[in-house]
Amino acid sequence: MTDVLNPSTGETIAAVAGHTVESTQDAIGRAADAFQRWKATAPAERAELLRAFARAVDADIEHLARLEVAEAGHTIGNARGEAANVRDVLNYYAGGVERHLGDQIPVAGGIDVTFNDPLGVVGIIVPWNFPMPIAGWGFAPALAAGNTVVLKPAELTPLTAIRLGELAVEAGIPVDVFQVLPGAGSTVGQAFTDDPRVAKIVFTGSTSVGEKILAESAKTMKRTTLELGGKSANIVFADADLEQAAATAPYGVFDNAGQDCCARSRILVEDSVFDRFLELLEPAVKGVRVTDPSQEDAEMGPLISAGHLASVRSFLDGVDVAFTGDAPSGAGYWLAPSVVLPKSPQDRIVTEEVFGPVVTVQRFREESEAIAMANDSQYGLSGSIWTRDIGRGLRAARGVESGALSVNSHAAVRYSTPFGGFKRSGIGRELGPHAMDSFTEMKNVFIATD
Ligand code: NAP
Ligand code: MG
Repeated sequence: MTDVLNPSTGETIAAVAGHTVESTQDAIGRAADAFQRWKATAPAERAELLRAFARAVDADIEHLARLEVAEAGHTIGNARGEAANVRDVLNYYAGGVERHLGDQIPVAGGIDVTFNDPLGVVGIIVPWNFPMPIAGWGFAPALAAGNTVVLKPAELTPLTAIRLGELAVEAGIPVDVFQVLPGAGSTVGQAFTDDPRVAKIVFTGSTSVGEKILAESAKTMKRTTLELGGKSANIVFADADLEQAAATAPYGVFDNAGQDCCARSRILVEDSVFDRFLELLEPAVKGVRVTDPSQEDAEMGPLISAGHLASVRSFLDGVDVAFTGDAPSGAGYWLAPSVVLPKSPQDRIVTEEVFGPVVTVQRFREESEAIAMANDSQYGLSGSIWTRDIGRGLRAARGVESGALSVNSHAAVRYSTPFGGFKRSGIGRELGPHAMDSFTEMKNVFIATD
């Protein structure tokens, strides 16, 4: 049994039995059997079952949200939105089941058509930072495309995933089509990667584990979608609405206590407005409400664990902290939002993913330098650009080597638009109109008519 702690208090709230390698292999075997039935389900029926699953999630939003506040320290407002996101993603891909079209290709002597065949068993490995949405971005399109799913939540945050597994069964999703298997990465996750019956791995988490999964998946030629780290830039040009840029910058990085692969953790500000921007940023950072995440007005909760808090704190050793916001003291894994002025672009705090409520602010002199600084990273996941010049906004958005950019906004992930990383931020795209393609093989069939 593994204890699940409430990160706001450090108290144990549940104990969850983890799967063994053997029980994981059994589950994969059942998923492989269920695949034969699920892929043969009529498209309209499969779509309706996913809509029923969405309705069950909708009816359970408050319960799921309370579980996420308790196990992950998410603010109640965010947690409700995350549960609603699972519902919306299910409905979006339910609409895709009957619209996942193939092609008819002009050829001589017959007709040529393509089919989108499901892969088989898909293994989804989920981190602790957004337990519900990240699970749904994988399982909804995978199930819609006709695959069966085994899903491993993070050991720190298994409760909402377990509940989603129950809701699927209550909604009528056939037995073994969607199985949630709590347990350790080194046991359950490793058993997914090792098993030749698993056709694809969808992994979100650290770049180091992602590399290992990619290497091991090669042995059985598994397909992979990897969503890994980020070190995204928030570029503020002198001609931007500075008040708006400064007021929103804290929420672009400190949301979910900075435990977000899309966190805009490097603010790059044009030299001529650098001091003014910092003046505006300070009250905005101090205004972030860091408090008990079950409070309706909470804007930031604790970090996920004592170990992670220590890791984030280590980044603050010996750096120049310009100012901080507030955080509760006492029990729980709290850290005040912190703004750092780095001494050098090679500082660890500039180059490595902190995954906590810490942001650096650096200056640039011209557009080309801003883009070069944004791209001076092994990562390329998201980013923001603030300017009133539309041409410059587009040039910068085209110039930054990242998968999801926003101009005059910090919007990153919408279920209807593609999401994923350049460079070491990952491989493949989730969400958007094309996600079901990455859960199918394209088959080409030629039928002679002559
Ligand atoms: P992690 O080790 O990559 O864990 C992510 C998931 O992978 C968890 O479910 C984990 O299981 C599982 N896992 C671990 N080792 C595995 C293996 N050998 N085979 C298969 N699955 C395995 O990430 P973490 O330790 O939680 O966080 C470390 C750092 O990763 C963070 O500080 C952050 O920088 C980054 N991170 C990024 C994201 C993101 O959204 N891109 C999310 C989380 C973390 P268990 O943990 O249950 O054992
Ligand atoms: Mg780990």
